Amino acid sequence: MKAEIIAVGSELLLGQISNTNARFISSQLAELGIDVYFHTVVGDNPKRLLNSIEIAENRADLIIFTGGLGPTKDDLTKETISAHLNKKLVLDKQALLYIEDFFKRMNREMTENNKKQALVLEGCTVLPNKNGMAPGMLLTTENHSYILLPGPPKEMEPMFQFEAKPLLPKLFNEETVILSHVMRFYGIGEAELETRVQDLLDNQTNPTLAPLASDGEVTLRLTAKSNSEAEAWEKIELLQKEIFDRVGEYVYGYNNDSLASKLQEILVENQLTISAAESMTAGLFQSEIAAVKGMGAVLVGGMITYTESIKVNQLGVEQQVIDDFGVVSSECAVAMATCIKEKFDTNIGIGITGAAGPDAHGGQPAGTVWIGIALNDMSPVSYKLSLSGMRNTNRLRAVKFTIHYLIR
Ligand code: ATP
Ligand code: MG
Repeated sequence: MKAEIIAVGSELLLGQISNTNARFISSQLAELGIDVYFHTVVGDNPKRLLNSIEIAENRADLIIFTGGLGPTKDDLTKETISAHLNKKLVLDKQALLYIEDFFKRMNREMTENNKKQALVLEGCTVLPNKNGMAPGMLLTTENHSYILLPGPPKEMEPMFQFEAKPLLPKLFNEETVILSHVMRFYGIGEAELETRVQDLLDNQTNPTLAPLASDGEVTLRLTAKSNSEAEAWEKIELLQKEIFDRVGEYVYGYNNDSLASKLQEILVENQLTISAAESMTAGLFQSEIAAVKGMGAVLVGGMITYTESIKVNQLGVEQQVIDDFGVVSSECAVAMATCIKEKFDTNIGIGITGAAGPDAHGGQPAGTVWIGIALNDMSPVSYKLSLSGMRNTNRLRAVKFTIHYLIR
């Protein structure tokens, strides 16, 4: 099945917003193993929209629209499709009730043009909008399926994910089960990973294999189609084993795992508490791990010790350490880790200090990071990173390295 996404909105062409809707839908379709061949962006203009639809019909089976479902004059998506497919717009009672109720709750007067939002294409499946007013639609004709979604991502994303996506596999083949599985890697670059599995990438059919890199991590998505879930899973396991044999040492998790969620699991399992003194990352380490639910059981707290005087006077790093070795040093990172561990009475203390860039800092070139780790009564250890990214990339990389070190 070939899909095309048509994003409707002049603001996209004017550069006022980016087409994040297409990105979201594409990544969702990838999970189903549906190939997206084209992204189209077209302004709020019925003639050009019609032209885009005709082009899409010649090269795609599934055409997904976002935007232009609202009540205003420039919202013309469903009107254009209605005329093109010769399908009347009919009032959907459920949607109208919902819109009336919405206005009542807001204590606002409903205007006539708001009713327009309850009009749907005759014969479509209505996709309820739980976060706004305009309902979405799925319409199937002899040769194509059309999905109409609202523009605002807050409305579009849950509607696609929870209302439209579950209908898709059935739409094209009743028998097919599509199963998707993500392997997550850290410590290996995308190019290196691809080289190690190149033949698997070259010869993929079912399951398909898709690499993706972001923020210093790489993922491989394995997608299998089959007649039953068990059979699809078997295919995935076979391929996964092959991948594991080659690059298994870099796998840290699967599917919705993150480095931070793995850390949370391990700390809870081993009943270890943690605190951190952060200089160059200024709280980013704690913020990153606190994003995981349940971190409160293990993350006690920490300090942002950006300046030398705070490191010495508040955290308790000895002035001598800084005088002898500098703030960006193994000794300072270890002292920060040890001091915070003592101060906050935790099992683990982390100290992160470095030159985030673009300038050198503490006599060290940009990108130099020292990470100190103190664990219970063991002698503390430190690691040096020499990063070459931009300032905030370096800060995030330092955080990820630290988390990864702790979960290894
Ligand atoms: P509304 O009822 O809010 O008018 P709509 O379905 O008519 O919704 P549009 O008017 O086309 O949608 O867009 C509304 C807003 O949604 C835009 O101003 C923009 O903020 C966001 N939006 C629209 N299309 C996209 C897109 N492709 N990617 C990201 N955001 C988008
Ligand atoms: Mg609109």
